[in-house]
Amino acid sequence: MNANLLFELTDPFIRSVVISLEKRPPDLQIDGCCNVVLNGVPCRNPPKRRGLCGSCIFLIEKNGRSIEEFAREVRKRSTHGECVRKTTIVKGICVVIEDGEPCDRPSTTRGLCRPHYRLLEGRQVLPRFVLTDEEIRTLPDLPHWYFDKNVVIDFGRYELFRDPAVVESVALVAAVLQQKALATVSLDCVRAVYTYVGHRLVWPDQEGGLSLSPPEAEARAREYAGRLFFERGGLWHLLPYRRRQFELCATGRSLPTLSLEDALEYHLYAQAKAEHGASLFITADRQLLNACEGVHPRKVLETFDHLRVLLPRGNIHQGR
Ligand SMILES: [Zn+2]
Ligand SMILES: [Zn+2]
Repeated sequence: MNANLLFELTDPFIRSVVISLEKRPPDLQIDGCCNVVLNGVPCRNPPKRRGLCGSCIFLIEKNGRSIEEFAREVRKRSTHGECVRKTTIVKGICVVIEDGEPCDRPSTTRGLCRPHYRLLEGRQVLPRFVLTDEEIRTLPDLPHWYFDKNVVIDFGRYELFRDPAVVESVALVAAVLQQKALATVSLDCVRAVYTYVGHRLVWPDQEGGLSLSPPEAEARAREYAGRLFFERGGLWHLLPYRRRQFELCATGRSLPTLSLEDALEYHLYAQAKAEHGASLFITADRQLLNACEGVHPRKVLETFDHLRVLLPRGNIHQGR
């Protein structure tokens, strides 16, 4: 359709739709939402460019206003972020802080993750960032594990309800929180811990819960998962699933003897191993142990004997 004709057809529509167009005030700006307030109602569409959604960009331009009036302040981000070196270096994790945000990706080359290696190589500042020979010699080597989500859920069961199914899982997660090991988990693991805890907090005391009301339980569960993964200093690396992994597993073309959930975990482990250097797939799930190269937390603790001090004490009933 020719552009002039399109304008002719849409102009009356725009005039009838737009009574007022404003920019969201700064305290009401939400990441992931468009920045426009249309006729007094904040737009909730996901932004396409400069914090504005496609239809608001269209309305702004058709009203003869300028994108600049409404756009978010440009934040320097991603490819052109300002990089500094961390002051505390943990071997196995990238040494870069980009735009104030510490990188939590596992390092693949001399202390740098792959994207940062490439970025800093391009800027010709690699020597300022890479680990020195001295650091390579003296920084302790940290093991890098992949946790099946049940390992982390068992930790939460112990911490909140004093009910671990596998005590060794508790010790391994404690090691990650104390920066003695690096763990990759799926992002879905964060959601799963939250869901498990939220359900269980509602159970009556005598059944192992804490008798919370559903809203209280939701708030506690969110706080618990948020702190566990983001605020306790743990060396977590969180990986999202890829569409392709879902496609292969959900259609049964890959690992059809496993449950969909287990098959996905195994695929993500393979990715963590290939791309980020995870070395063990740790799971207490018997099916996964039999089918794949999974290792039980107990076996891991036999190998990393110095972590035994982190085993929970007291009357713990061991199950599974
Ligand atoms: Zn919008
Ligand atoms: Zn990095």
